[in-house]
Amino acid sequence: MDQLRSVAIYARISSDPSGQALGVARQLEDCRKLAAERGWGVAEEYVDNDVSAYSGKTRPSYQRMVADIEQGRRDGVVVYNLDRLTRRPVELEQFAEICERAGVRQLATVTADVDLGTDDGMFMARIFAAFAAKESARKSERLRRKARQNAEAGKPGGGANRPFGYEPDKLTVNPVEAELIRQAMRRVLAGESVRSVAVWMDTQGVPTSTGAEWRTPTLRAILLSPRIAGLRSHLGEVVGPAIWDGIITLEERQQLLNVFAAKVATGRRTPRSYLLSGMLRCGKCGGRLFSSARQLERRYVCLSGPDHGGCGGITVTAPPVEEWIAAAVLYRLDTPQMGDTLTGRRADDARHSELLEQLTCAQAKMAELASMWADGDISRPEWKAAREPLEHRIKTIDRQLSQITGSTALEGIVGHGQELRTRWEGMNLQRQAAIVAAVLDHAVITPAVKKGGKFDPNRIEPVWTL
Ligand SMILES: [Zn+2]
Repeated sequence: MDQLRSVAIYARISSDPSGQALGVARQLEDCRKLAAERGWGVAEEYVDNDVSAYSGKTRPSYQRMVADIEQGRRDGVVVYNLDRLTRRPVELEQFAEICERAGVRQLATVTADVDLGTDDGMFMARIFAAFAAKESARKSERLRRKARQNAEAGKPGGGANRPFGYEPDKLTVNPVEAELIRQAMRRVLAGESVRSVAVWMDTQGVPTSTGAEWRTPTLRAILLSPRIAGLRSHLGEVVGPAIWDGIITLEERQQLLNVFAAKVATGRRTPRSYLLSGMLRCGKCGGRLFSSARQLERRYVCLSGPDHGGCGGITVTAPPVEEWIAAAVLYRLDTPQMGDTLTGRRADDARHSELLEQLTCAQAKMAELASMWADGDISRPEWKAAREPLEHRIKTIDRQLSQITGSTALEGIVGHGQELRTRWEGMNLQRQAAIVAAVLDHAVITPAVKKGGKFDPNRIEPVWTL
């Protein structure tokens, strides 16, 4: 047996909540004893704590030892057992190669000796490694079974992050965050985009559960999560009721799922089939008129009932109203005041980009503050105090932005009414509707004075945007 003078002792304790893993102190003690029995001189002890070699996480001390072996500073390795050194056969192969290149032939374990320089030694090592890998797989399978049992019992999962809307115990509802979830849900159900609601969430002074600023995917994931409806999911499937309270009802969850499914199906919104969809109001109740066809006749009607809430008292045949409004819009585009408006709008554009820049800047500062808080650089009260002026600033900019309408919609149409009139019939409905919406806010349709007969244009009361 060689007289080794600078042996490495390696010890590792793996993540093991049961506490059955051999403690590092005991491993080291046994390794020192073994080295002493052989008369080997120990150069250094390398210890990695609480990291599973199987999980693929880095082991700093292991890497330092390998580097020392590669550089010829070690002539032997002592470990308690091969599964302390590595739990994957491929890692052991790599380790054996490094040892071979460096001329390190002795790998001593307290439980068995392996000479990596002989075929027998490698064979033994492979068996040890294969055994260790199997043991790891068994452990993973046990954990998987346990996770499924937990899920089926409705218990919370073991993720490190606190779910938004709940306290760190993952069971108690956090009332402030829960209210934000419900408000976000109502906005989405009312037709607002998730992106827009995420922007709004960021102005509410409550970051995500990791202290980050709100992003569309984060908010979408929360709104779609079965958890907030009091359901437990496992590997992407709902497995049953959870033991915690829901923040929204099951009916509300279903409505949200419908809204998201509709968005996926249509890309964005349902394609327009009527020129004046959403632009006509009932002259009796002020409600929106809805497009509706009866047999072959296209109509706009005031609809009563819980889904629409109108009076049901107005019906108008679509084609004459559409023709009249299109003609009025195109005529209006050529009036002198439209030219003046466009000039004013162009000035607004410059102001608009300036405000957008300020908004981006303020939002970036908010994000920076949130990450400073998350990193522990500032305390929660400091973070809150610093947020206030920024939030105020963002609200002000938002308000100013909402008062500005850029020239984009008017560019290329103001002063071109005549020309657009000749091309009108050939344009698609989206383009026609965009031109109408650029100048018309809405139009009120008043009741017919007499029944039957020709359409009376006096029933249309346009409200122009400018
Ligand atoms: Zn009505």
